[in-house]
Amino acid sequence: MAETVLLALLLSALGGVLAGRAWARSRRRSYTLDRSGFRGSIHWIHGLDSLAAGRPGPALTALSKVAREFPESFDLQVVLGRLLRETGQVEKAIQTHQALSGRPDLNRTERSFVISSLGEDYRRAGLVDRATLAFEEALRIDPRNVHAVAGRQKLLEDQALWTEAAEEREAISRLRKSDDSLVLAFLYTEQAHIAARAGRLEAAEHGYRRALAVDSRVFPARLGLAAVVARKDPQRATEVLEKAIDAEPQRAYLAFEALATLYGILGEPGRFERRCEQLIRKNPRDWRARVALARHLRERGSSEEAHGLLLKAVEANPQVLLVHLEMWKTLEALGILTESQHRYVETARQAVFYRDPHVCTACRYRAQEMLWRCPHCHEWGTFIEEGPAPGAG
Ligand SMILES: [Zn+2]
Repeated sequence: MAETVLLALLLSALGGVLAGRAWARSRRRSYTLDRSGFRGSIHWIHGLDSLAAGRPGPALTALSKVAREFPESFDLQVVLGRLLRETGQVEKAIQTHQALSGRPDLNRTERSFVISSLGEDYRRAGLVDRATLAFEEALRIDPRNVHAVAGRQKLLEDQALWTEAAEEREAISRLRKSDDSLVLAFLYTEQAHIAARAGRLEAAEHGYRRALAVDSRVFPARLGLAAVVARKDPQRATEVLEKAIDAEPQRAYLAFEALATLYGILGEPGRFERRCEQLIRKNPRDWRARVALARHLRERGSSEEAHGLLLKAVEANPQVLLVHLEMWKTLEALGILTESQHRYVETARQAVFYRDPHVCTACRYRAQEMLWRCPHCHEWGTFIEEGPAPGAG
């Protein structure tokens, strides 16, 4: 969807340029509308209208008709190629961009743009080598083609080459004078994860701290830092996690497991209960803290107390499936379910598909868990918990 929005922006920009030129001409021609070329086609209007409405399929159909009438139009072919890629017709997008790149009438900027679009098609098709070559060629023709640098950077991310991807992102940030700190912080975090996995704890700690210094919103850096620090100093690791929860209580649940373990190591399991109670006091709708606390209590034999907590959670968030799942487990632990109720619970539990839905705010991709990089649109930090539908209370 983000790509579609981008595309809509691209088209509206293009439309704006055309409209601007048309307006200037219309001034000269005493307000007669310019309907020369493809702008005279009703399919062009339909195509733009569909794009503005976020419907790439009908837009593609309409603009394909215009393109058949006006095959020489460069702008149209560019838009069409992009639409083909966005609607999953990557092979046709490649053909369109290849045909465009062979045209002798393109200037340097146009040629470079078309070749980097071709690179993007290859990237989408998983043809890493061809994509790399295309982006390099695009940059040889026009070293200031940000589109190509951005494509090459995404390609490095796809290959999990985090150091190179971060360097490229820094270059992009300088080139377009943009604030890329959030993405950079995620990339530094990925670098630190690799160091941590390889047992290079000092480098990992340094990497996580660097990420947090660039952008403190990167929660996985806090989790990673706590895990690294915990190996030598559980008390300090606990402090890292407590600070993380204070900074971002809506992400606190991601730290619960590690925190409960650390409190256990420190011989203070009661601290976990107090932490959860504190979160619930601050936000009575925090069902995750209630569920975590209920689980903690049930595992320690206090199923009655867990049941009371979950009843409140069901009242506050009846739409959340995980609350019901936890309640079923607690009812089972209380031993009050009949045989047929057991069967119902088991059947319902297995039928559940999206237990814990998270959604990408950029492209609406859904996942069962919090993801830091969207596997569909490849954006960073776009996932949120999927909330109840409006009006669901
Ligand atoms: Zn996405």
